Amino acid sequence: MRLGLVVTPSSTPRALMRLISSMLAVSIKNSMSRSRPCVCWPLPFSQASGEAGSPESAMTNPEIKVLDKGFVRVIDHMGSDLSVVNAARVSFGKQKEAFDEGDAKLVAYLAEHEHTSPFRHTALTLHVKAPIFVFRQWMKHRIGSEFNEISGRYVEFPEDEFFVPATFRRQAKVNKQGSEGEIDQANGPRAMESYLESCRGAVAHYKELLSLGVCREQARCVLPVALYSEVYWTVSLQAVAHFIRLRADGHAQWEIQQYAAAVRQVVEPIYPVGLKALLADRKG
Ligand SMILES: Cc1cc2nc3c(=O)[nH]c(=O)nc-3n(C[C@H](O)[C@H](O)[C@H](O)COP(=O)(O)OP(=O)(O)OC[C@H]3O[C@@H](n4cnc5c(N)ncnc54)[C@H](O)[C@@H]3O)c2cc1C
Repeated sequence: MRLGLVVTPSSTPRALMRLISSMLAVSIKNSMSRSRPCVCWPLPFSQASGEAGSPESAMTNPEIKVLDKGFVRVIDHMGSDLSVVNAARVSFGKQKEAFDEGDAKLVAYLAEHEHTSPFRHTALTLHVKAPIFVFRQWMKHRIGSEFNEISGRYVEFPEDEFFVPATFRRQAKVNKQGSEGEIDQANGPRAMESYLESCRGAVAHYKELLSLGVCREQARCVLPVALYSEVYWTVSLQAVAHFIRLRADGHAQWEIQQYAAAVRQVVEPIYPVGLKALLADRKG
C-alpha cells in the first residue's frame, strides 16, 4: 500500500507515527465501506478470469455470499495437489511435473496414514466477513492458521452492520449447546422486534458515545457480538480441512456451518484431491 508520505527534516518519529496511523485508518475505513457485489461462485479457479493466485485474481475473485451480509472470498493461494505429492516424493529424491492417477492414490495414502506434513506445503488466504460470534468460534482454530482483523480502534463501525437471522431456533432438547426447529410462530414477530431493538439500541449508544467525545476503543465496548467484522485468514490445506470437518458438521452452530460450506466451495477447486482425501479419512 502506498501512503504518499512527505517527510521533512523537522518530522519527529512521533509525528510520523501519527500521520501513518491516520492514513491507515482512512485506508481501512474506505475499504470497509466500499460496496462489493456478491455473486454465486461461477467457475473453478482455473477457468475464472484472472489467474488464481495472481494479484489480479484478488481483485476479480467473486465473493460467496454468506448469511445476510457476510462473504468469503479468496485473496491468494499457494501450491496444489501436485505440491503435496512432490513434498512427499522429495523423501526419495523425485519430483513430477503433472498430477496423475498414481498421485491421487499417494495423496489418499498420505491422508489415511496421517503422513500430514506434505499437506502443509500449501497456503490459502481468504477474506471473510462474518459476525463477531462466528469469529469467536473460528479463531479457536489456531494451528496452521493466521488471522488479521479490522480494528474498531481505527475504524468507526457503520450502522446496521449486524447479523439479522431469518428465523429464531429453539434450544435443543438433547444437545445442550445446540438448537433445533423454530420458536412458536406466534412469538416470531416479537422476538425479531426485541432482537432489532437491542442491536439498534446498542449501535445508537455507540454513536452517542462517539459524539460525546469518547474514543472508538471504549465506545465499541457496548456493541453486540452480532456485529459484522472482517478478517484475512491464511491457512494450510491441512488446517482448512480440519476447520471444514469440525464446522460443517451438524454439531457446530448453524451460522458457522454456512461459512464452512462456503470455505469448502472455494477450497475444493484449488486442492480437489487433497481436500477430499483429508475429509474422507476424517483427518486434518
Ligand atoms: C461443535 C463444537 C463445539 C465446541 N464448543 C466449545 C465450547 O463450548 N467452548 C470452547 O472453548 N470451545 C469449544 N469448541 C472449540 C474446540 O474445543 C476447539 O478449540 C476448536 O474446534 C478448534 O479445534 P482444534 O483445537 O482441533 O484446532 P487447532 O487449535 O487448530 O488445533 C489443531 C490440532 O492441533 C493439535 N493441537 C492443538 N493444540 C495442541 C496442543 N496444545 N498440544 C498438542 N496438540 C495440539 C490437535 O490435534 C488439534 O486437533 C467447540 C468446537 C466444536 C466443533
